[in-house]
Amino acid sequence: MSSFVSVRNLSHTYSDGATNTVALHDISFDINKGEIIGIVGHTGSGKSTLVQHLNGLIKCEKGHIFINGEDIWENPKNISKFRYKVGLVFQYPEYQLFEETAYKDIAYGPKNMGLDENEINSRVRQAAEFVGLKDYMLDQSPFDFSGGQKRRIAIAGVLAMKPEVLILDEPSAGLDPKGRDRIFSLINAYREKTGATVIVVSHNMNDIVEVADRIMVMHRGELKEFDTPERIFESADKLKSYSLDLPAAAKIADGLRKNGVDIPKGVLSVNDLSDALLKIISKEGSIDE
Ligand code: ADP
Ligand code: MG
Repeated sequence: MSSFVSVRNLSHTYSDGATNTVALHDISFDINKGEIIGIVGHTGSGKSTLVQHLNGLIKCEKGHIFINGEDIWENPKNISKFRYKVGLVFQYPEYQLFEETAYKDIAYGPKNMGLDENEINSRVRQAAEFVGLKDYMLDQSPFDFSGGQKRRIAIAGVLAMKPEVLILDEPSAGLDPKGRDRIFSLINAYREKTGATVIVVSHNMNDIVEVADRIMVMHRGELKEFDTPERIFESADKLKSYSLDLPAAAKIADGLRKNGVDIPKGVLSVNDLSDALLKIISKEGSIDE
């Protein structure tokens, strides 16, 4: 597989006269086309700063970012091309809805891309349908919608640009379990449908194990680990040193094992756990018969 997103020796320091904050320190990694990557880390570990670099929102001061082999800052005049190629959904994106209809909000990005009216229209309707908005809702004000719906309008606005890399910063923050499930099925469906690369930032391990093929662990501006979920969640102690916890399902699985229940290794998500329990229950059933 060839690398689609490559970062080399990226460092970033925020300076506001009196204080300097090192937000990223010498980060390098490669992500393949079509992978879903989770980025986890305690608050302030540099996750948002990192993803804002990937679409050129923050100018790369030190290091390089390559998208499909192209250095995004090689010619700064071309940076807008990468802002469309790499779609970034901010944390709480619903606060950035500002148009008078949902349609106009979703159309904002495609319009900036200079697409013609027909293409914009078809993209807006496709993206809206994809996130589960009905056609008639497009003429309503974004402010008439629930929190979860608003977030899906904001996500549709990014999907309508058909990004090859979709990045979502804390996409489930503040949503109820149902809203959260909808967002994560959307993420899986987008990758499935388009083959796009997806990067999901979250400090919630339960979210990340539902979707990620590989997980990055950020800690105080450094990329500490980049591995499969099985490896990342192998050692609770190591996670603790990054101020992170095991996913809830993995903790429950551990507790059950300690009580002699035969749960296989690698149970991380709620789905894994329910599969393992169903297997045990059906075995017990067949003994009774
Ligand atoms: P995370 O998304 O993991 O919570 P951030 O990338 O937001 O982390 O922050 C990394 C570090 O940079 C933190 O110490 C944070 O306080 C600091 N920081 C973030 N944004 C700014 C900013 N605009 N100006 C100054 N410091 C910032
Ligand atoms: Mg953040």
